[in-house]
Amino acid sequence: MCGIVGYLGDRQAYDILIKGLKRLEYRGYDSAGVAMIDEGDFRLFKCKGKVSDLEDSIGSNIKTGNVGIGHTRWATHGPPNDVNAHPHLSNDGSLVLIHNGIIENYASLKAELINRGHTFKSDTDTEVLVHFIEDIRDKTGANLFDSVRIALSEVIGAYAIVILDKSNPNQMIAARKSSPLVIGVGKDNEFFIASDATPIIEYTRNVVYLEDEEIARLDRTDGLKIVTISNQHKDPYVQELEMKLEAIEKGGYDSFMLKEIHEQPRSINDSIRGRMSLATGAVRMSGVDEHEDRWNKATRILIVACGTSWHAGLVAEYLFEEFARIPVEVEYASEFRYRNPVIYPTDVVIAISQSGETADTLAAIEMAKDKGAFIFGVCNVVGSSIARATHSGAYTHAGPEIGVASTKAFTAQVSVLYLLALSVAMHRGVMKQDRLNRLMAELNSVPEKIAEVLKTNEDVKKIAAIYKDSTNALYLGRGYSFPVALEGALKLKEISYIHAEGYPAAEMKHGPIALIDENMPVFVIATQGASYEKVVSNIQEVKARKGNIIAIVTEGDKVVKDLADHVIEIPKSDDSLVPLISVIPLQLLSYHVAVMRGCNVDQPRNLAKSVTVE
Ligand code: GLU
Repeated sequence: MCGIVGYLGDRQAYDILIKGLKRLEYRGYDSAGVAMIDEGDFRLFKCKGKVSDLEDSIGSNIKTGNVGIGHTRWATHGPPNDVNAHPHLSNDGSLVLIHNGIIENYASLKAELINRGHTFKSDTDTEVLVHFIEDIRDKTGANLFDSVRIALSEVIGAYAIVILDKSNPNQMIAARKSSPLVIGVGKDNEFFIASDATPIIEYTRNVVYLEDEEIARLDRTDGLKIVTISNQHKDPYVQELEMKLEAIEKGGYDSFMLKEIHEQPRSINDSIRGRMSLATGAVRMSGVDEHEDRWNKATRILIVACGTSWHAGLVAEYLFEEFARIPVEVEYASEFRYRNPVIYPTDVVIAISQSGETADTLAAIEMAKDKGAFIFGVCNVVGSSIARATHSGAYTHAGPEIGVASTKAFTAQVSVLYLLALSVAMHRGVMKQDRLNRLMAELNSVPEKIAEVLKTNEDVKKIAAIYKDSTNALYLGRGYSFPVALEGALKLKEISYIHAEGYPAAEMKHGPIALIDENMPVFVIATQGASYEKVVSNIQEVKARKGNIIAIVTEGDKVVKDLADHVIEIPKSDDSLVPLISVIPLQLLSYHVAVMRGCNVDQPRNLAKSVTVE
């Protein structure tokens, strides 16, 4: 959510900032801006809209300067417009600041500053912060680094900030709390800074992840200095990144989402590789092996997540209960954290988040940790806040996911949770070896099966063309396919803005059936398995009311083919693995519908990739 970039060095900052902001576009935003220092003054440009609108509005204006900051805003305080866009200036115009997050006590700070003669141009909490820092500097005579530290010690909320002083073009100051920031360290005190590493890796692979409540001073002559808000000195921990630049480019596809859908055979392979051995018949998850007693004595598993990750959590509920015979509860992180839940020290909490920065999930983790539970993270982004806040965990290794609507991150999460459930079942001695072997072999063949399903793309596109003008859609599934129905509906509404609902197929009778008529497309996951006959009956019920059935069926199916208006065949697999395969045509369908409706599939309106506000 929102993007921050900064540059300090010998090169022209502007081009680096614009390129960096474009790399961060996937996070979702509504306005953009940059500020450089040149000849003792700021060159400040900002506007509502895309980074390309910003470039157009700057045109041939002078944009030189070797130090600068850039921002894409996702509005929380005040509508998206030119004035509320970042960067924001302090009262006397000597400081400029960009900010990701929310300053919760901005109203009282603002009232106090107005009393002290400050005037504000925007509605944002951010502008209050930069005025506050200036006020502290002027009141105390402290330098900027100390003024930022003192100001932040009085701020309540979440932030990643970068601030410049126009009288010192050799320095950039940054700080974070609950919002990510990465510093890229180049040669000879050249520095880059960004919300994630994607804008940095083409310049340097050496990075420092700033921790919560740390403030960094980046200086052309003095190098990098880090202190905490309580003024403790910290030695910067420089690590080398392995991320490849090609992994974040579109690679010949029209959009990141389409590229990421097609990457799934590879990304699932990456998620499971090295974690199971068909030869030895064992699953190796270090987070289970090293904490065996916590998993073995677990009386319950709580899964906390939001959005698509919550759907992956629902699949995991079925997996853990079936394989490891542990009761599971799946919770929306935002509800869980605010309702004083009962948490026992014998609970294992699994927190799932693609970005590893989801604010609600992070807060839920902290609460469960305080109550003594063992916390296991499942994240995609290495070094993310959740990865660091948990006792143990497993990365999903899906590679950077740029499309805002999650596709490959979902299947990677389900793959990792699958192995996790098998591993826990193995450690607890509740799964027979021959079953374990069979399921591992089946999981191993999933990437190939997905490659097969991707070949149905043209057929799926034809179905999309028929239903693209629908105003509503219903998705139905039972058992393992119920979470897939939810995910299919979410995908459609996220990127095509068609209203869609996912339901357990049998629940249809208790409400949604009232909506069914000849205009209503009903997507049903009707693969052969435990609840096949029941789902067939549900399809009959829809047909009896003239609904249109688009069914996902097992290769060779005859019964549903006769009943449905359209079918998409997928290869046969164990029930427990159907979610990984059946979700693929639903992703493709949403993609094509969205493209046909002229929507921006990679950056759907109002949505952000990494939801760093609660
Ligand atoms: N709260 C700030 C604003 O509304 C920053 C939002 C963001 O993270 O982009 O301007």
